[in-house]
Amino acid sequence: MGSPERISNVAKRVAKWHRAGHQMVVVPSAMSGETNRLLGLAKELAPNLISDAYHRELDMLASTGEQASSALLAIALQAQGIDAISYAGWQVPIKTNSAFTKARIESIDDKRVMADLNQGRVVIITGFQGVDEMGNITTLGRGGSDTSAVAVAAALKAKECLIYTDVDGVYTTDPRIVPLAKRLMTVSFEEMLEMASMGSKVLQIRSVEFAGKYKVPLRVLSSFTDWDIDLEEEARSGTLISFEEDEKMEQAIVSGIAFNRDEAKISVLGVPDKPGIAYQILGAVAQANIEVDMIIQNISKDGKTDFSFTVHRNDYAKTLDILKSKVLPELGATEVVGDTQTCKVSIVGIGMRSHVGIASKMFQTLSQEGINIQMISTSEIKTSVVIDEKYMELAVRALHKTFDLDQVQA
Ligand code: ASP
Ligand code: MG
Repeated sequence: MGSPERISNVAKRVAKWHRAGHQMVVVPSAMSGETNRLLGLAKELAPNLISDAYHRELDMLASTGEQASSALLAIALQAQGIDAISYAGWQVPIKTNSAFTKARIESIDDKRVMADLNQGRVVIITGFQGVDEMGNITTLGRGGSDTSAVAVAAALKAKECLIYTDVDGVYTTDPRIVPLAKRLMTVSFEEMLEMASMGSKVLQIRSVEFAGKYKVPLRVLSSFTDWDIDLEEEARSGTLISFEEDEKMEQAIVSGIAFNRDEAKISVLGVPDKPGIAYQILGAVAQANIEVDMIIQNISKDGKTDFSFTVHRNDYAKTLDILKSKVLPELGATEVVGDTQTCKVSIVGIGMRSHVGIASKMFQTLSQEGINIQMISTSEIKTSVVIDEKYMELAVRALHKTFDLDQVQA
């Protein structure tokens, strides 16, 4: 929703659905660029915005972007003769905890919204924001309007939650890296969760978790199509994130290749192999609120072993510092080493559950390309490797080909 013209188009699209007999609740995010603009203003006044002291006011500030777009959409709908009403999060209310800038939704009251729907109104609810127990405005983290939309859909037991975004669906991998990447018609919720957590930034990951928990069928589709395309066609477009593991899905062994450039690797060398070591290392890291991704410990030789894990690149320096200053002296380990020039590449697919040899096929492909694997981790439906970041695109392209993803029928 970047301009009055775009908002008017959104209103026409909503009106089309409404006139076809659907009860509609719309959850807008801010006009494009607006959240960045607002946060940029704050940054000019206080360069160290990371400090917790500012977080309440940041939410007060950032939430205005959604309030403006919601009111504008209501006005645009009314101008087209549709009865519409907009609500801020606190008016619904959408209750959250008090973790400013990354609050979690706790409950949504459906009374006011249901009453409006039953009056034949289109209801507009601000995305991205809620209210805590004390009446403070909170926000849900960047990209949080996806989560608002799914949460509202769950609370109202909606038939489907449509997320209109700037891409037309979920792809087998990022089309900027593999031009032959194909749009998936359906993807299972579990696959989407893996892909969303690994840098396929189509949806905020928490919205996918929410959809899984409350079984909300989610469809990702383009906001750039003409508003007046056939409604049935629109309803089938994009990618459906579904819960049924139907036959078609079972056939796709690997559904997508995900990657993450932000992975940094850290190894603690020569740690004694005895109870409590992993806790000593990762406990200190967790205490600093740093998320750890892959973790690897080898078998020991002469009572000593090496312990490696990955963190987000932004947390690398802090993690290294904690390990060197606190953990190393207590542990009696030899040294801590690390590398930020790494990335993670993963193959994802629920078919991997029931097929053998998929991981080895992945390793074969990487070896044929001469790419060294530094770390490996697996789950039921994915295999991930950490490799040198300079080989990332090559790895993604080769794997996309190996698993025939160029041939997927969109
Ligand atoms: N406006 C918020 C952001 O830019 C929320 C969203 O767009 O989903 O992060
Ligand atoms: Mg968004």
